[in-house]
Amino acid sequence: MTIAQKLSFDVQLSDHARTAAEREQVLANPGFGQTFTDHMISIDYTDGEGWHDARLMPYGPLSLDPATSVFHYAQELFEGLKAYRQISGSIVTFRPYANAARFNRSAARMAMPELPEETFVESLELLVEHDKEWVPTTEGHSLYLRPFMIATQAGLGVNYPSKTYKYMVIASPAASYFTGGIKPVSVWLSTEYTRAAPGGTGFAKCGGNYAAAFVAQRQAVENGCDQVVWLDAHEHRYVEEMGGMNLFFVFGDKLVTPALTGTLLPGITRESILELAGDLGLETEERLITVDEWQEASASGDLTEVFACGTAAVVTPVGTVKGADRSWTVADGTPGPVTMRVREELVGIQYGARPDTHNWIHKIG
Ligand SMILES: *Cc1c(COP(=O)(O)O)cnc(C)c1O
Repeated sequence: MTIAQKLSFDVQLSDHARTAAEREQVLANPGFGQTFTDHMISIDYTDGEGWHDARLMPYGPLSLDPATSVFHYAQELFEGLKAYRQISGSIVTFRPYANAARFNRSAARMAMPELPEETFVESLELLVEHDKEWVPTTEGHSLYLRPFMIATQAGLGVNYPSKTYKYMVIASPAASYFTGGIKPVSVWLSTEYTRAAPGGTGFAKCGGNYAAAFVAQRQAVENGCDQVVWLDAHEHRYVEEMGGMNLFFVFGDKLVTPALTGTLLPGITRESILELAGDLGLETEERLITVDEWQEASASGDLTEVFACGTAAVVTPVGTVKGADRSWTVADGTPGPVTMRVREELVGIQYGARPDTHNWIHKIG
């Protein structure tokens, strides 16, 4: 049930915010998702009442009954996007309404309430405005924003979804994914495990998809690879995505990406690259692509580059591919020119070095 209402946020400022010196120490070497800013957003939901108790409050632990639904049945979803400090000094986010829309598509699949898109975006703005000193000034660094929602009803009954929920946003300064140059990743083709099946939750950004993925990621590392590549559930023939990123196959001046069949996560970076391609003189195609085609087109030279894309690492070249019974290298295994061009364009728009002709930039401060 969606109740039309305009929420007003209560603002409770932290009385133990980090000092400028403490903050600078974190920002000098932020890593990823390790340290969080001084505040967080919380909004509660109750069936019949809708969203209520919207607030900005000091960052800190939650107190929840051990029988709380999310701990047992994983009714949870999340989003991920970044606030960037542009060259001009402005603080911006990239396509936050696209994240808001995806949040609600995930919510519908998880039998969770939708949050008005305006409230989603306003919650990000409020947090970033209060913690703006945490938005790094170092080139390539950013403030990673993590909106999420959990089922909060206490009780072990499984016949109905929770009647209460909590939406939150936390924020964490993030270094550039690549320190010391762009390095291609090696990937492991997972034929033993499946990430998502038709009718499942593959298109939803829910924690459960990740819980089921760790064992395959660990197997990838045991096989000497950086990342797992997921294949379709039926035949393990069609390529779906890589870890938490979508894949693009470069055939000369054509970009091919796996079609959204319902088992892939529809990345906002993926969608943006499909829209940007025309500006760069590249053709695009969304279709099914098999592991055999990947291997054969690498051998024939028709496939010139492969890259993965997502908010965290933007664009990452894929160098070598390994499976239970085969392994090969894409082109010469080094980052290709199309990969680097797409990456430069996207990063350029995010940091303000390139014109935002698609109106993707949302200014915060
Ligand atoms: C979040 C995510 C992506 C990338 O989505 P972006 O919106 O581009 O960050 C891709 N695959 C999975 C499984 C994801 O969770």
